[in-house]
Amino acid sequence: MQDIKQQQAQIIEDFKAGNQRFLAGMSIHSSRASLMKLKEYARVGQSPKAVVLCCSDSRAPVEMIFDQDLGDVFVIRVAGNIVAPSLVGSVEFAAITFGTPVVMVMGHTQCGAVTTTLRHIQTKEALSSEGLNDIVSRIKPHIHAIARIQNISDEEKVRRAVEANVRASVGQLSHSSRIIEEMVNLGRLQILGAVLDLSSGVVNFLED
Ligand SMILES: [Zn+2]
Repeated sequence: MQDIKQQQAQIIEDFKAGNQRFLAGMSIHSSRASLMKLKEYARVGQSPKAVVLCCSDSRAPVEMIFDQDLGDVFVIRVAGNIVAPSLVGSVEFAAITFGTPVVMVMGHTQCGAVTTTLRHIQTKEALSSEGLNDIVSRIKPHIHAIARIQNISDEEKVRRAVEANVRASVGQLSHSSRIIEEMVNLGRLQILGAVLDLSSGVVNFLED
């Protein structure tokens, strides 16, 4: 039990160190070495150290931001880092198949899905498609109260809403299925949240 806790702490430290390398422009990976790893993983199979559920925003590429290599991270990307059934299934797949012990939900500042949802709450304007509506309707309950706060700037609203949306996804994911709930209760799966600041590249890990 202690072993898995140590392993989880080590993985999180590894991501933090990788983000520091990214910020310093000191990547330890090369495309030549990555290609060799790819060929090796094609032969022996993958064993990602963590699952990351992240927004699809082009400015939030998980492997680059954390200076991770090919095969290191099982990445699930969806606008607004929402939790929906097929995304839960993706987490279950990685946790069961590879025994991946850490799941990180990473949101980011200036998130378009979150700002669209805030605007939708405030203006009640209709969304242009069923697909968009599905995303917005999943974010809406988590940030509804923030949209109604008076006397704070729109930027501050977005900042708070992004963080609230990540925390909500962490909470939802933890109770999203019997399998995941059981793994979390047994300590075999740690789910945590983080927010990428696009203006600096810094990832802030959210405390419980
Ligand atoms: Zn986003």
